Amino acid sequence: MGRIYNFSAGPAMLPVEVLKEAADEMLDYRGTGMSVMEMSHRSKAYEVIIKEAEKDLRELMNIPDNYKVLFLQGGASLQFAMIPMNLMKNKVSDHIITGQWAKKAYQEAKIYGTANVIASSEDKTFSYIPDCSDLPISENADYVYICENNTIYGTKFKKLPNTKGKLLVSDVSSCFLSEPVDVTKYGIIYGGVQKNIGPAGVVIVIIREDLITEDTLPGTPTMMKYKTHEKEGSMYNTPPAYGIYICGKVFKWIKNKGGLEAMKAHNEKKAAILYDFLDQSKMFRGTVVKEDRSLMNVPFVTGNEELDAKFIKESKAAGFENLKGHRTVGGMRASIYNAMPIEGVEALVAFMKKFEAENL
Ligand code: PLP
Repeated sequence: MGRIYNFSAGPAMLPVEVLKEAADEMLDYRGTGMSVMEMSHRSKAYEVIIKEAEKDLRELMNIPDNYKVLFLQGGASLQFAMIPMNLMKNKVSDHIITGQWAKKAYQEAKIYGTANVIASSEDKTFSYIPDCSDLPISENADYVYICENNTIYGTKFKKLPNTKGKLLVSDVSSCFLSEPVDVTKYGIIYGGVQKNIGPAGVVIVIIREDLITEDTLPGTPTMMKYKTHEKEGSMYNTPPAYGIYICGKVFKWIKNKGGLEAMKAHNEKKAAILYDFLDQSKMFRGTVVKEDRSLMNVPFVTGNEELDAKFIKESKAAGFENLKGHRTVGGMRASIYNAMPIEGVEALVAFMKKFEAENL
């Protein structure tokens, strides 16, 4: 069997060029006689890999010098705890609840202090982004927390919330490097890499340097202090070395494609193919309000559970993998991250048209 179109929400497709290059280097990484997987993270060869990965990411995202880049472990979920442990000086955080991941981060923050819900779209199954122009920001909030792209529900903040001068902390796991961002608008911008960048487990934290202090909540484990990792250049302990190496390759792949502006154009083109079809279909419809639609995750339904199940079964047989929607939304979801080629989305739409013609 050849490669299929994998519409998984994550782990997700990686660029074929990257996978091939990694395969070529698997037994002998550039004359070292070993795989990067077998290499000491303290070796000269690995130092080049991690330094270059950071340099390329800085270039791609235009990360200012007063922001640190940390390659950490524990996935995005460990950040749900690390963020309050490191930032909650007043023990207050404000949260905008736009889905399950935002909620999990909020629930974790509650363990460490007073976490407030200042806006939510739960009333309509998270199918929109709440108005964030005039939020009831807490006077002593240490930060305002958002999940910028909601993987499960397919919504995206098109405009960042007005935090009234408070720090913004954003989980960009499912929109990382999908379009340009202004890093200076954030205190922390972070994400797990398993959707747009690399193998699961690695989380990249981009943090303004003045937020990295020894002044963490009492009891914060050494491994969960940003300071520990910043001091050691993400090498306090053995980093997820192979994962970071793949991330580095993906950064170069994006650079070669023209950077984040080019990624945005590529992603807009793909998303438009799918959304345009959904908007005129007599069988399928998108579940998100138009203005808040994600470029990365596209949930859709037929409105008939049996038909949804038939579609999922037949699409799988036709080589379209992982189109089943999250259990809280039902229906289908196509995740079309950076590495999904236009042809994949075109093929999916052609299949949907055929299915509609056969089943309407
Ligand atoms: N945040 C978002 C937006 C996600 O989509 C996910 C996982 O899919 C997570 C956080 C959790 O990531 P991890 O499994 O790396 O902890």
